Amino acid sequence: MFYVKERLNDSMEISIEITDENVFCHCPMCGVEVVVDIAEILGDGESDLFGTAIYCSECSKKIRAGGSYDEHK
Ligand SMILES: [Zn+2]
Repeated sequence: MFYVKERLNDSMEISIEITDENVFCHCPMCGVEVVVDIAEILGDGESDLFGTAIYCSECSKKIRAGGSYDEHK
């Protein structure tokens, strides 16, 4: 399993298992919180955790319908 580890102070540290339900990011178009399917990201063999943006379902729809990626540039 993968987990995230965060040192709270000198004597406390937390580790949290990464599952397919507790990884989130913000949609780069509208900023809404999106659940990230980490298995899908790792599975495509090309993505990295810093360069990958997950669009929310609404924005994905817009993009697929011919919307622009460049709206915010
Ligand atoms: Zn969005």
